[in-house]
Amino acid sequence: MTDKRSQRLGGLTQSYIRKMTVECNRVGGINLGQGICDLPTPPQILDATSEAILADKSIYSPFAGIDVLREQIAVKARTYNQISEAKAENVVVTIGSTGAFNSVVQSLFDPGDEFILFEPYYGYHLNTLKVGGLTPKFVSMGLNEGLEWTITRDQLEAAVTEKTRGIMCCTPSNPSGKVLSRGELEMIADFCKDHDLIAVTDEIYEYIVYSDSEHVSLASLPGMWERTVTMSGFSKTFSITGWRLGFIVAPAHFTKPIGLINDLFYVCAPTPLQYGIAAGMAVLPSNYYSEMAADYEKKRDLFCGVLSDIGLIPHIPDGAYYVLADVRRLGFDDDKDAAMHILERVGVASVPGSSFFVSDIGKTLTRFCYAKEWDVLEKACEKMSALT
Ligand code: GLN
Repeated sequence: MTDKRSQRLGGLTQSYIRKMTVECNRVGGINLGQGICDLPTPPQILDATSEAILADKSIYSPFAGIDVLREQIAVKARTYNQISEAKAENVVVTIGSTGAFNSVVQSLFDPGDEFILFEPYYGYHLNTLKVGGLTPKFVSMGLNEGLEWTITRDQLEAAVTEKTRGIMCCTPSNPSGKVLSRGELEMIADFCKDHDLIAVTDEIYEYIVYSDSEHVSLASLPGMWERTVTMSGFSKTFSITGWRLGFIVAPAHFTKPIGLINDLFYVCAPTPLQYGIAAGMAVLPSNYYSEMAADYEKKRDLFCGVLSDIGLIPHIPDGAYYVLADVRRLGFDDDKDAAMHILERVGVASVPGSSFFVSDIGKTLTRFCYAKEWDVLEKACEKMSALT
């Protein structure tokens, strides 16, 4: 019985994101691998949540979340995301956006359906699809002379078949930091309409967008509300990755089945944390979000500068808080060896690039996460500067 596992797990193994954290702890390194985001949580959120816990808001909430939080998420969807149709009844509060995507896959798609992922992709998207019995279809982004990731309609057309039912748009993207432009999203929208696809977006980094880019939600484009499930969450925005609070905004024909599965798998998201977020978010200063993005932009500039200096050429991100860096100059054939070399030599963990690619380009890259306090990031930069 010891080897028993379900067929649906297929070849699923522990993610390198987690593996590198274990390795990092083993050598006592600085963890720029897993996107832990161990920055301070805004005190307003912590205070309001402590109050909710002490007020004993300890029982189940409705499976779609507490009303006050759903209302706030709907207001945000209408104002920040420009999704004018969004109302509280269009919101389901989930167990992070990872839980959101699992509920989406299980409730809206069938085994054997094909689902398009842009490469580089977030491994949890891929594995959630696979465990759900779906078939991933990859669209490998190109690279222009400025090392920016590109997509074309021809590439999308080459990936689609009559079995294709969905497409993932992760913007800003983990791991590439690409922020899909309005023009690219319009192209994807036309593609979805022409092939009658459901679009699922992962916008968990929606507030971490740098000066030259804007965050555009696919669901805000004409004709896309009806066919888009917008996923996001609070993990990154408030540095509460361990609270597991995310959400979905979608039309009723999607939120009804998604809500059913969210109830079945999770019953509800943690009730006191929902109250805490709702109350804390309401009293945050209005510049909280822009200040956070500006701080990350400075961290990006610092860290990417160091990567350039030491010859690990970075693909400069426009959003999120990861950077893919070219590790070829270290002389390894395998990205895992390169990442382990960096960890063992200078004590900085990263995630090998092949975790985000099916094609070989992943073997030339590693991903660093700079969501760290300034002193920790500066220490990491010092260590990286000594990399030979
Ligand atoms: N989203 C984060 C990352 O990409 C954390 C994922 C995880 O810990 N599983 O690193």
